[in-house]
Amino acid sequence: MKFSRFLSLTKHDLAIDLGTVNTLIHVRDRGIVFNEPSVIAMETVDGLRTVRAIGNEARLMLGKTPDSIQAMRPLRDGVIADIDVAEQMIKHFIRKAVGANRLPMSNRIVVGVPSGATAVERRAIRDAVSNAGAAQVLLIDEPMAAAIGAGLPVMEPIGAMVVDIGGGTTEVAVLSLQGIAYSGSARVGGDKMDDAIFSHIRRNHNLMIGEISAERVKMEIGRATMPEGKGGSLTVKGRDLVNGRPSEIEVTEREIAEALREPVGQIINAVMRALEQTPPELSADMIDEGITLTGGGALLGRLDEALAEATGLPVRIAEDPLVCVAMGAGRTIDDPTYAGVLFPA
Ligand code: ADP
Ligand code: MG
Repeated sequence: MKFSRFLSLTKHDLAIDLGTVNTLIHVRDRGIVFNEPSVIAMETVDGLRTVRAIGNEARLMLGKTPDSIQAMRPLRDGVIADIDVAEQMIKHFIRKAVGANRLPMSNRIVVGVPSGATAVERRAIRDAVSNAGAAQVLLIDEPMAAAIGAGLPVMEPIGAMVVDIGGGTTEVAVLSLQGIAYSGSARVGGDKMDDAIFSHIRRNHNLMIGEISAERVKMEIGRATMPEGKGGSLTVKGRDLVNGRPSEIEVTEREIAEALREPVGQIINAVMRALEQTPPELSADMIDEGITLTGGGALLGRLDEALAEATGLPVRIAEDPLVCVAMGAGRTIDDPTYAGVLFPA
């Protein structure tokens, strides 16, 4: 095994949140040391494919690369879509997280997996991480990690609902006593919101915008409920579909809320479905414990209000929703009381 000669180097225990949009790496006793977009740019020269950029740098290339370079997101719906590329990306991320000139010789790497991931998808994640340099790979259900990271009482016999809204999926889970009493996943998240904004602007303003611009509109004026009147507005730049020239338009909060109605409705439906299927004893706990939102999508304006309105339950956004999964997975390494929530890959 080619790593054996590095055995004398420092050992690391890592926890990885391999998200569709962002990857975070937590190192034992050090906390989160890496947090960058799950993007890799590969360059092909004379038929040979090499890694040109990763993370933040690669994201800036999305939609702007010449033919020889391909900037891509190798994960889809939270699982690996392109195994070779994903492996390269993970390898580079780990290297960057633990220091460029030290190859990782982790004893253990804990990785979050969507609770609905199939056996094949789990194996792909395990293989990619173990090929990237892990001696042992352990898995944790992402909703469990998110709940621990959000400070929910997952070791107690109290039902707690966590809704993790990522780029590709929304995971809804009810947890109690270290276990998952219900889990469901819907293929809706931040990406679908961006797509909805992109389509709306193309259709109604004849303007083609890039995915980064669509995401910016969502973050700045996107909301899950209708504002009174038109609400605020924002200038967006893109290419005019009629004359082909660069152009800019103004979009209002109201029209964006309208465009977001469908993906937001799908998130609400996923939560309602989960509530309907929660065992009654745990259901009763929800009245006091309410619903906790994690993942970047939790930050969509007024999504907490929309969910509270639809469910009649208290809804809170976790303190730092984008880092909950990584924090929770990391805590299982730092604190042995959580060992029971990990399972071998
Ligand atoms: P994943 O786990 O799939 O990598 P994350 O939990 O990292 O996803 O969340 C990324 C998603 O959150 C992206 O779609 C991003 O646009 C969205 N997001 C981040 N911040 C905000 C915000 N302030 N408002 C709305 N969406 C946001
Ligand atoms: Mg996630």
